[in-house]
Amino acid sequence: MPQNSLTNPALLNGEAEFDRALRPVKFDDFVGQTKLKDNLRVFTTAAKNRGEPLDHCLLFGPPGLGKTTLAHIIANTMEADIKVTSGPVIERPGDLAGLLTNLKEGDCLFIDEIHRLNHVVEEYLYSAMEDFHIDIIIDRGPSARTIQLKLPPFTLIGATTRAGLLTSPLRARFGITGRLDYYQPESLYLIVQRSARLLDIGLEDEGAMEISKRSRGTPRISNRLLKRLRDFAEVEGEGVIDEDIAHLGLERLEIDRNGLDDMDKRILNTIINKFSGGPVGLNSLAVAVGEEPDTIEEIYEPFLIMEGYLERTPRGRSATKTAYEYLGKTRGETEKQSSLFNK
Ligand code: ADP
Repeated sequence: MPQNSLTNPALLNGEAEFDRALRPVKFDDFVGQTKLKDNLRVFTTAAKNRGEPLDHCLLFGPPGLGKTTLAHIIANTMEADIKVTSGPVIERPGDLAGLLTNLKEGDCLFIDEIHRLNHVVEEYLYSAMEDFHIDIIIDRGPSARTIQLKLPPFTLIGATTRAGLLTSPLRARFGITGRLDYYQPESLYLIVQRSARLLDIGLEDEGAMEISKRSRGTPRISNRLLKRLRDFAEVEGEGVIDEDIAHLGLERLEIDRNGLDDMDKRILNTIINKFSGGPVGLNSLAVAVGEEPDTIEEIYEPFLIMEGYLERTPRGRSATKTAYEYLGKTRGETEKQSSLFNK
């Protein structure tokens, strides 16, 4: 577990309820991701007007950016029911068959973390997606036979943080693919204000601005920081999150002015101090910072790359000039130091 779980965009225990309460239900309330949102609005409206189910849809992007939210908005716009599950939960083909045969015509099936479906289940999904049927083998040995179950036309909405891990046959079966990017502070500012209104939290503009700048481009983190700052406002302030309370709270939560947390800084410091600024391979870096390679690749790296602190090259990860400046280091100096230590 990263040290500062507040800035880890993965869902925390017990947070699902809170997420749900703040989830926009219409495209109009969904802030940012304009191109993707506008396209999805067109595709859903067109399918609905034709009275057809929407094509299968794949949403990808880092955690906490709104994939689940969009899946619900799509279903809502289609006036369809949505069943929610996730890749690792569907262990056997029978689990998948159970889910699919319970769908009604036009329903949406949302599979989160679809890259974690096991291969056997995935192969069953192909015919379900393409021809709306599923072949189930019953019995074993000589009396084994296949029965074909017809399925009502439905829309599969898959979400993944790792589009690269999806097999090409699965990916090819999605008619619509959409990528979510990190949000600009201006969008997060609107999101956090909306959440404050819904939760009846006093939030001044300056407070909202601070939260939006330090949320790693991620709405889930903005909402989480809002909740924590409310505590500081109630106990150490006058109940309203103003600029002072935001500064005080974020400092106490050890979230720095650019939204970097302990692990981000540890990654950059390690590359600079132990690996002369890089390039360093993912596995060596993971061992050196004491974190899983997957977590580094999925959660920390995308943000550090987007903000220009880290570069990914075929030979490994390197710290950029911005990273050196940010940590107050100069390239020559740290290289001299590490070569002295490595002697
Ligand atoms: P993901 O499925 O990508 O991990 P979620 O859809 O669960 O992310 O979103 C996490 C939280 O962030 C939800 O509570 C949701 O309300 C909020 N959120 C995400 N995107 C937006 C948005 N564009 N506008 C408003 N709130 C958003």
